[in-house]
Amino acid sequence: MKNNKLIPLSVPNLSLDILENIKESIETGWVSTGGRFINEFEEKIAEYVGVDKAISTQSGTAGLHLALKVLDVSDNDEVIVPTLTFIAAVNPVKYVGAEPIFMDCDETLNMDMDKLEIFLSDECDFIDNKTINKKTRKHIKALIIVHVFGNPANMDKLMHLASEFNLKIVEDATEALGSFFLDGKFKGKHCGTIGDIGVYSFNANKIITTGGGGMIVSNDLTLLDKANFLGVQAKTDSLYFVHDEIGYNYRMTNIQAAFGKSQIDKLEEFVATKISNYNLYKEKLAEIDGLRLLSFRDDCRCNHWFYSVIVDSSKYGMTRDQLLNKLIDNNVQSRPVWRLIHKQKPYLQCRAFRIEKALFYEESLLNIPCSSNLLEEDLERVIQILDGKEMI
Ligand SMILES: *Cc1c(COP(=O)(O)O)cnc(C)c1O
Repeated sequence: MKNNKLIPLSVPNLSLDILENIKESIETGWVSTGGRFINEFEEKIAEYVGVDKAISTQSGTAGLHLALKVLDVSDNDEVIVPTLTFIAAVNPVKYVGAEPIFMDCDETLNMDMDKLEIFLSDECDFIDNKTINKKTRKHIKALIIVHVFGNPANMDKLMHLASEFNLKIVEDATEALGSFFLDGKFKGKHCGTIGDIGVYSFNANKIITTGGGGMIVSNDLTLLDKANFLGVQAKTDSLYFVHDEIGYNYRMTNIQAAFGKSQIDKLEEFVATKISNYNLYKEKLAEIDGLRLLSFRDDCRCNHWFYSVIVDSSKYGMTRDQLLNKLIDNNVQSRPVWRLIHKQKPYLQCRAFRIEKALFYEESLLNIPCSSNLLEEDLERVIQILDGKEMI
């Protein structure tokens, strides 16, 4: 079946109406880090997620770096992070000279809040309103929570722990634009708007894209102003070029924002398609022994960004990697979940607290095609292969 066209895992859903904005950028010469699309895109994102202000960045990674900078995380500090996520969520901890402490996930793939609570209570001292790691005597200043694959983390419990242990919360909502709570304490709140700072990404594989780009949001406008200042080279005086701090060139360009301004208007449509494709997979996979599609929370409107299949090899008759290879041989792109970060070379020396469940998902989870421009025939083909009907 090698002559079948490639079905990619996750590709951008672009349309030519973006050209209008690009044309204007070219004609006016506003192609760099100034121009009306940047402000308009920032305003649109802020309005969409329900905050007063958003600050654009070159990437989600740059946004996370700035978030840690403005929360004053630096060397000698420690930051709690998940081990099951994309490594860009954790690298910024090292950029600021701090050390990560890795936490396990639970059945939602998000950070296990019960284990987090055990770690904070048993492995830390609380002195002068600071959480101190008993082993290293270092100050645990912040925690980065990731809403994995667009499924919201347990923010209720997390914000409770954050106030009890005085931790700053960075929400890595790079995968979760469009996900919000329908119930509970944070009813109506979007992922990214609950912690101290939230970060979105518009990389090409995310639910909307600007080619590359990110956005920072916060309810604390001084934090946002600081992030904005540091992201444009920390220019104190823009006529005489006075700089009192080390800054970065992290602002989004008008060309990127020209994409974003058009993409954000399609987000709801993309989410709707992702949900209906997910439901189709779910219905069909229910009939296949040994495969299980992971659910999204039903007390949230989830963006259904990535779909995760758990392969039970004894029932399915094939291991996760055998299935992965079969899909690849049939020109269907799929991939195992990320290699856990506490096992990656730069992080081997770091503390990892009772990692258990994440090991299971690392072994058994497969992400299957989920682009919002998948055709029905593509879905059918993927399902046929999963069902074992289509042989190599
Ligand atoms: C995509 C992603 C990032 C990084 O975003 P970029 O815009 O690609 O820099 C960070 N964290 C997670 C969890 C991501 O999925």
